[in-house]
Amino acid sequence: MDNEIVLPDHLKGIEKIYIDRSMQKVPLTERVLSRMPDLPVEVVDPENFPHGELGGKQSLYLKEYKGKFLRFCPGTRYYHCCGYRIIHIGEGCPMACSYCILQAYFQDNVLKVWANQNDLFDELGKAFSADISTRYRVGTGEFTDSLALEAVTGYSRDLVEFLGDYPNVCLELKSKIIDLSWMDVVKRTDRLLPAWSLNAPFVNEHEEFGVSTLKERLEAARTCAEAGFRVCLHFDPIIRFDGWREGYAEIIDMIFDYVKPEQIAYFSLGSFRHMPHLKPIIEQNFPETTYIFDEFITGNDNKMRLLRPLRLRQFKFIVDRLRKHGMDKQLYFCMESTENWQDVFGYTPKDLGGLGKHLMKQAFND
Ligand code: SF4
Repeated sequence: MDNEIVLPDHLKGIEKIYIDRSMQKVPLTERVLSRMPDLPVEVVDPENFPHGELGGKQSLYLKEYKGKFLRFCPGTRYYHCCGYRIIHIGEGCPMACSYCILQAYFQDNVLKVWANQNDLFDELGKAFSADISTRYRVGTGEFTDSLALEAVTGYSRDLVEFLGDYPNVCLELKSKIIDLSWMDVVKRTDRLLPAWSLNAPFVNEHEEFGVSTLKERLEAARTCAEAGFRVCLHFDPIIRFDGWREGYAEIIDMIFDYVKPEQIAYFSLGSFRHMPHLKPIIEQNFPETTYIFDEFITGNDNKMRLLRPLRLRQFKFIVDRLRKHGMDKQLYFCMESTENWQDVFGYTPKDLGGLGKHLMKQAFND
């Protein structure tokens, strides 16, 4: 049956598969090869990977990863960070969003997947069973999109199945595409949070390429909600453009045509921010993009962020509209100061018992 898989459009640009010599016989490699049977394959030694010879061609690299699979999200001490843990399953994304931070991290067009899943499961098993009273809120969408490669790797499905034995872990699968193939292996719907990033229709149309439509994402969210899951939604990055009020109002109103507030575990809001060296990369990769010329200042974390009054104006508008639809304590900021929390929400993370603790409660539906 695997051979009959029809590749989704966002995976049709992959031209070649590279496999670490040590990963030729592992289950993940066998699965990928069975699902992409027509692509040329090259077995490599990692030290000889032909980085300079790819000429921008997109390839999939099934790699033996030697580092830590379970990590802390790289927040900073200056702003309130949500305390999320990352399960590192690979790097790179076949879709193309103009604002994507991954452009600054990974200049080549190589989609890397850590094929030594046994090592990953060993490490996670030890961490999660060491003290079952310790709870974890984890996700995979930090250096990749959680589900972008799912059609060929089945990685999230494997992970979901594995985590079924760890009720102290709540997994968020964050994506901009639709793939619900992991659903049938979920043991507890209250330990899995399907999540989609959304944006104003203008941003979706002009700045996100190869991704699903907003309607498709919301239809998928509704399917999950009807199946008993709570979903997570994210507005990140919030961008300023002519007509942003109408645009964000439209997507906010649309959300509640599909899901009810109580079906949303949490909802993050993050203003567009970037390391200074991302700007020329965006200019080069997406020459029609204009929001990078907005009015930015350098934040305490050395990232460029929109001037505070402009940022707060957007946040207040969006929060106000979301509250009118019944959203409340599910809303949080990604990387904002105590003052901004107070000004927009009227309370601070401290009032919630700390952002990390608060989101843990939201995730586990305490
Ligand atoms: S879907 Fe996410 S990871 Fe992929 S390009 Fe867009 S922002 Fe980056």
